[in-house]
Amino acid sequence: MFRSFLFYYLKFLAAFMMLFVSTLSFSQITPFEAKGKNYSASYEECMAYYYDLQQQYPAIEIVEIGPTDAAYPMHVVLLSSDRRQDVSKWHVKNKAIILINNGIHSGEPDGIDASMLLVRDVAERMQQGNTSVENVALAVIPVYNIGGCLNRSPFNRVDQDGPEEFGSRGNGQNLDLNRDFIKCDSREARTFAKLFHWIKPDVFVDNHVSDGADYQHVITMATTQHNKLGGPMGDYLEKIFEPSLFAVMEQYQYPMLPYVNAWGKDASEGWFQFFDSPRFSSGYAALHNVFAFVPETHMLKPYAQRVDATLKFMQVLIEYCQQHRQEIHVIRDSMLNVQQQQTVFPLQWTFNPKISKKSIIADISTRK
Ligand SMILES: [Zn+2]
Repeated sequence: MFRSFLFYYLKFLAAFMMLFVSTLSFSQITPFEAKGKNYSASYEECMAYYYDLQQQYPAIEIVEIGPTDAAYPMHVVLLSSDRRQDVSKWHVKNKAIILINNGIHSGEPDGIDASMLLVRDVAERMQQGNTSVENVALAVIPVYNIGGCLNRSPFNRVDQDGPEEFGSRGNGQNLDLNRDFIKCDSREARTFAKLFHWIKPDVFVDNHVSDGADYQHVITMATTQHNKLGGPMGDYLEKIFEPSLFAVMEQYQYPMLPYVNAWGKDASEGWFQFFDSPRFSSGYAALHNVFAFVPETHMLKPYAQRVDATLKFMQVLIEYCQQHRQEIHVIRDSMLNVQQQQTVFPLQWTFNPKISKKSIIADISTRK
């Protein structure tokens, strides 16, 4: 009788423990995964998920940065193999620091859901002492345009292939936040400036979705213009950094294309590259000698595929930065040295169609 009682008691205990374990693992499943991969987390679900992860992983710390034009403040999720996150120590330890922005246009939520998967993946690897993420530090903005994210509807971008419901482009004041860096009409831009100068990233990513053109690729890339960036950073970006990312993404079955900004002309005549002046996030980053990448997934591809491509790009970027962090730091330092000795500062440019057309066509013809 006693043995039988003990048996049932242990069985009950095991069942209870299993329930506990499954509750824990359930808390790590993103709403995107749980609801069929055509679903994007709401603002509340997104933040609740990150707070659950913070409980689970000591490598994660969520910090409130400052106000936005919505009722909620902006947060950043810090992540490194250090047990306690201290951004100044990231610099002392020579980590490659990557700042990732999501949902600046909340109708383009791919990065919001992809980053939730990314942070879980990297935190798990850090927990296991995996050296593949030892020398990188991540700062992830879960949602930049909170006001837009709260304004959910299936009809904000009707041509887009999913998710079933998502936010709007404008923020709480209906400002386009990706035209507001430098100008700072929004509280978001002022809070971002504070965050940016605190984190002092080496690399910046701002996740987007395209808006119009049709083509085969799932993901395109609006890298900051190397010729505008100039100096050692411009050279490195054009000849080494960007081609490496394109090559590895191709291995992952997500070949990329430079961001397509087409206005009806044939590609063989050349298209203008996207000019990221400092009112755009990548232009703002470039102004501070930070390498900037703007993934633009293709709006006409299914949501699950777009999220996966965005996640893959961020993983590939982390892998590159982990392996080449010293190189990245040396190049950025040398850029600063060049600028400190600079005596002439161009304030205006004139367009040279001969050179520009040649470089754009070369760009298109060397990439699939
Ligand atoms: Zn966008």
